[in-house]
Amino acid sequence: MPAVTRSLLHLLSPGGRRARLMIFPYHRVLANEDPLLPGTPSAARFERQLQRIRKYCNPLSLEEGVERLTQGRLPPRAVALTFDDGYANNLKIAAPLLKKYEIPATVFVAVDAVERGIMWNDLIIEAVRSADGELDASPLGLGTLNVHKDGKLAAVKQLIGSALYLPTKQRMEVSQALYAGATDARVPRQMLVPDQLKELRAFGVDIGAHTVNHPILLSLDDTDARNEIADSRRWLRDVTGEEPKLFAYPNGKFGSDYDARHVEIVRSLGFLAAVAADWGCATRNSSLFELPRFKPWEDSDSGFSSRLCKVVAQTYVQNRQSPASAGRT
Ligand SMILES: [Zn+2]
Repeated sequence: MPAVTRSLLHLLSPGGRRARLMIFPYHRVLANEDPLLPGTPSAARFERQLQRIRKYCNPLSLEEGVERLTQGRLPPRAVALTFDDGYANNLKIAAPLLKKYEIPATVFVAVDAVERGIMWNDLIIEAVRSADGELDASPLGLGTLNVHKDGKLAAVKQLIGSALYLPTKQRMEVSQALYAGATDARVPRQMLVPDQLKELRAFGVDIGAHTVNHPILLSLDDTDARNEIADSRRWLRDVTGEEPKLFAYPNGKFGSDYDARHVEIVRSLGFLAAVAADWGCATRNSSLFELPRFKPWEDSDSGFSSRLCKVVAQTYVQNRQSPASAGRT
């Protein structure tokens, strides 16, 4: 069976001018499974995913993938891995495994999260984790939430969903208030420290920009949006000594999180390409500044490879319907 799906994938994702570039999005890789982060791989699950990527795909760095896509020189079954936000576990857990399987990756760093040590949404997750039975959710106007063991995941989803589209500063303040209301413990550091970005580079991992404050770009005026993107690029250049070539839109859905104005800003600042959270895989018809991504994770070999076939096949339908919007959903 694997041989059949592998051949099918080879047909659907050939090399050269008709090639597809699959881009897989990660955030964290955990030491152990976490019930409050379902879908986030443990080291063991991540390693199995890397083994499948090695078995079914031809991994390359996103930068090389983009260059070869435009030149019509991609290998068949081409894939690039990305990690958003800049978690410390990207260095501690993911990087050694990536090196073991010789799989390149790009980490997109949100500057404020790295400086502060934690993302706003993780403050909420840690607040719910720490809360003993009840959580004061009045900072979000939600009263008192029941966060007994089985209710914790639902509470995380409700709280993050309620805060996501608040103004950036208010979103962080609300998250801090929720955390302070739940526990006296110091806020844990979850993100890389700036010096670790150089260590990641030593593992061969590329560093890309992801704004300063991880805002919903669509909620900002054009000047603020441009500053968020340009300042994050400058900060990374100062820390790593290299100009980041790649960008990832925070949250990343076209129309709700960013739009054509932000595509133009990213292009005008001189980036090589940008990735979104829109679903699909890239072809030569795709905009290099709106590259789609998709999560292929299935906990079996056959599930993994058939999902790749399904997503790649979908791009043929999209291309036939509308070449300009291929990959945008
Ligand atoms: Zn992000």
